[in-house]
Amino acid sequence: MEQIYRKQVRDKKAEKLAFLQKYAMGSWLKARQEADEEVSNELSMFCVCGSLCTGLHESYCQRFKEKVNTRAINKLKHLWKENRVVFPKYLK
Ligand SMILES: [Zn+2]
Repeated sequence: MEQIYRKQVRDKKAEKLAFLQKYAMGSWLKARQEADEEVSNELSMFCVCGSLCTGLHESYCQRFKEKVNTRAINKLKHLWKENRVVFPKYLK
C-alpha cells in the first residue's frame, strides 16, 4: 500500500484506491477479498512475477497485490458513476 504513494508521477490507481478507502471501505474490502481469490485461482504454479506461487508468496508479492488491487478497483467501477460529482473533485 505505502509503495503506491512513493511513485513520482500522478497515479490514478492510487487515487481511486484512496477514494475507495475513504468513502467505500466496506465495498473495497469485499471487492479486494473477491479479487484476491480470483487472481489466486487463475494463477496455477507461478505468480505474475514468475516466482513459484504459494500462499506465503502471495501475501508479500507486490505484483500480485497490484493485480488484485486493479481487479478490485474494476469491480467497483459503478461507484464512479454513482459518485461522479464527488469523485472528480476529489481527484483534483
Ligand atoms: Zn509474485
